[in-house]
Amino acid sequence: MNRIIKKAFLGISVICGLASAASVKSPFVTVPWNGYSGAASFTFDDGFYQAEPLSQILEDMPEVKVTFFLTNMGMNLLDYFGPTYAELAKQGHEIGNHTNNHFDLTSIAESSLKSEIIDFAGELEQIMGSYGAEVSVTSHALPYSQNNDIVSSVIDDRHFINRSAGGPGKHDWNVEPNWSNMDSKVWYTTPNAEEDFLNSIDASAMAPSWLVLLNHGIADLGEGYITQDLMKEFIQRAVKNNMWVAPFSTVGAYYRAHFTLDTAKAVADGNNLTVTWEMPHKNMPKSIPLKVVINETFVRENFGNNASIYIEQDGKRIYPDEDGIFILEFTSLKATIYGSSKTPDTKPYMVRSDLRTQDDPFSENTTYTLLDAKGRRLGNITEFKVPDFMPKGPYIIISKTPGFAAKVRKVIH
Ligand SMILES: [Zn+2]
Repeated sequence: MNRIIKKAFLGISVICGLASAASVKSPFVTVPWNGYSGAASFTFDDGFYQAEPLSQILEDMPEVKVTFFLTNMGMNLLDYFGPTYAELAKQGHEIGNHTNNHFDLTSIAESSLKSEIIDFAGELEQIMGSYGAEVSVTSHALPYSQNNDIVSSVIDDRHFINRSAGGPGKHDWNVEPNWSNMDSKVWYTTPNAEEDFLNSIDASAMAPSWLVLLNHGIADLGEGYITQDLMKEFIQRAVKNNMWVAPFSTVGAYYRAHFTLDTAKAVADGNNLTVTWEMPHKNMPKSIPLKVVINETFVRENFGNNASIYIEQDGKRIYPDEDGIFILEFTSLKATIYGSSKTPDTKPYMVRSDLRTQDDPFSENTTYTLLDAKGRRLGNITEFKVPDFMPKGPYIIISKTPGFAAKVRKVIH
């Protein structure tokens, strides 16, 4: 248990009362990847050869939603494709920004960046709106994956997340990524590409992480194009693996929000505890539902073993499901936890012992060891992150927390 909480409650009865006005760490623990075995976001750039073949694939998979990064490509493409993508947006697919003219953003005049990036985000919303699709553009994808600090800062002014490409496309739950340069795995037609993609999808389900994939067109055109059968196989594999197959912004917002919520501050007042937090970025989606559980030690020590717990947000009561999971609205920026053994319409809170396999955000006893790619020990570090001064390349990090299984992660630095 966190020392601050321990201190706050030292010597007080812990049956059903919280200290007054004590500032403690939030007991919320976000359920990784919305409760699925990892996440997969299928993103499609440029707008060519996608809408029809994908619609055919997704006919039987209504739960699967993808992301389209659209551009005018210097030829007013959206005059032609606009209505098609508006229809897809109405079905719940994401429309993201891929710039107006698809220039290499690092090679154009700084004065043009605003119109290429920021103004075009607004134009996209307007075009979609003119065909009846209410779209909020919150993500961006770099043309040719070209990025620098100036480009990043203009994108960051209008989007909470920016997609690049070229690496393994894998993102780990407890490692905060660079939101202005999110890697994705790109499809190229090579002899081993099918096996390689399937392995990546399986790996992200086995050690749950977020895999971001990038495709261009779906057609028998070779090179950067993928066939309809293969595309279908990949999406089906992710679904079969029980992965969360959702748009780039949807998974990205959930992922980004958890770093805020899981380290939020809380204030105890009598029999309740209010957790407050701030938006980590001004341009996140309008609604970000988060699945959370309440730290089991906190529940036991402050509300007792058989307490009923409920959460209040914006005047609405939220009860846990049979697995002890609450669904919070992150954009409300506040939640109050109540514990009561008397409320007749609540049942005892079920503690999620299976979540002990996740990193315990309360542990102050976790140690992290850094190894090189061959497994040679390099030294101790303080978090799940390769120190900035280390040379670029692959590393292994092992974390050990007393009472928990050791975790081993491969990291590309
Ligand atoms: Zn492109």
